[in-house]
Amino acid sequence: MERACLAAPGSRILLRATKYDGSAHWIQPFRVVSDDGTLLVAQYAAKMPIYTSRGEFRSPYDSRVYFWRDRWYNVFRLSRPGCALALWYCNVTTPPRLEGDQLGYVDLDLDVAVRPGGCVELLDEDEFALHQRRYNYPLDVISAARSAANQVAQLALGNGFPFDLG
Ligand SMILES: [Mg+2]
Repeated sequence: MERACLAAPGSRILLRATKYDGSAHWIQPFRVVSDDGTLLVAQYAAKMPIYTSRGEFRSPYDSRVYFWRDRWYNVFRLSRPGCALALWYCNVTTPPRLEGDQLGYVDLDLDVAVRPGGCVELLDEDEFALHQRRYNYPLDVISAARSAANQVAQLALGNGFPFDLG
């Protein structure tokens, strides 16, 4: 099996998410908290510039992000600096790959938002339907994306890691 490239705690990595055709979607800087080869945890400081396909953006939220190399979703824990949890935001994506200091994956549109108190909402189903046609997603990608959205929603509802951290 291919050995995962490990990120050193404290080092900087750049997330480069694309859409299915390879076009840039989201570029965000992170500092690595930990990496065990499967789960990479990283943090983003509020107000650092983020490039998105809709222009530059500076998030008001500090984020701690959980990227699993074997899962089709990631989990962003968003909070205002110095404040309690505001929101969990989960992106459905292809499993991430780290190459050097670049973390890459394909964004598959679907998102799951989890509010404190446990309200779970599936977002962007319209975009997912549109992009299935526009980019010709293979059937296995469509089914992996749907099942990932379901898995992360179930994880949140069951208060599983990392949602148990509050
Ligand atoms: Mg989306």
